[in-house]
Amino acid sequence: MRPQSQVLQVDRVSFAYRAEEGLVLDRISLDVAAGSWVAVVGPSGSGKSTLGHLVLRFWDPTSGEIRIGGHNIRDYALDDLRSMVGVVAQDTHIFADTLRDNLLLARPDAAEGEIAQALERAQLTELVEGLPRGLDTWVGEQGLRLSGGERQRLAIARTLLKNAPILLLDEATANLDTLTEQALLAAIHGLMRGRTVLMISHRLIGMERMDEILVLDHGRVVERGTHDHLIAARGLYRQMLEVQNQMFVLPLAQAAADRRQAPEGPPTPEASRDGRIGAEA
Ligand code: ADP
Ligand code: MG
Repeated sequence: MRPQSQVLQVDRVSFAYRAEEGLVLDRISLDVAAGSWVAVVGPSGSGKSTLGHLVLRFWDPTSGEIRIGGHNIRDYALDDLRSMVGVVAQDTHIFADTLRDNLLLARPDAAEGEIAQALERAQLTELVEGLPRGLDTWVGEQGLRLSGGERQRLAIARTLLKNAPILLLDEATANLDTLTEQALLAAIHGLMRGRTVLMISHRLIGMERMDEILVLDHGRVVERGTHDHLIAARGLYRQMLEVQNQMFVLPLAQAAADRRQAPEGPPTPEASRDGRIGAEA
């Protein structure tokens, strides 16, 4: 069966891993219109990845249904479903094989030109050209060790080759340092262009670009809207953003302020804590 369009719909989906335990997802509904971008954010353990796993049918909802192109995803052959959904998740599995074979997993028949283009768009050309054996370099255990950022680039190149209309991103830039993350985001945005995207993240990065953001807490949607709407709502989203800024931005500002104050001696722990509270206001 072929989908009517690229729309992804989650319709009052509830899910429990075990009947005797509580619901991990509680009546979640969302529509990702063809070509639009929806993010699901929320604290760790709120059920984000579980939702992604339901889309890929690692499990089926306890109630409610998920539709792609208007059809319940249970009605597709599993291979067809998974060929429609490209995935970049937190940990990319690298097989002990050549770089080329790792790339071609998604589309064994990809032409050389397509491979070169995917490498370019994933910003891997330089790495590959620097290798004496190029794409025939053995990677994985006992081969070339790829850094976290390189593994994610490989995942992006794979997904570009697969060319699936729907893209599922699950913490695709987690575990990377800030600079690597920033560089990777450009490649990810390239991958998102023209696709129907469900982005799962506990970090609130690039949220201004999303058509809708759902905030999940303990399996429930507690807020939804655009980035600007959610900031104005002063709820959990805003709170998460402030904590994130405190962790990543304010320490830098504080360090700069400390350097400016250096002639008076280093600030006491009390002083720097007060400074941080002051900067939040
Ligand atoms: P998030 O991605 O938002 O961090 P998850 O969807 O991974 O959250 O997890 C939601 C809840 O489901 C957590 O309480 C987690 O412990 C539980 N959970 C996740 N995976 C499984 C599993 N395979 N079996 C049982 N419980 C699970
Ligand atoms: Mg997760």
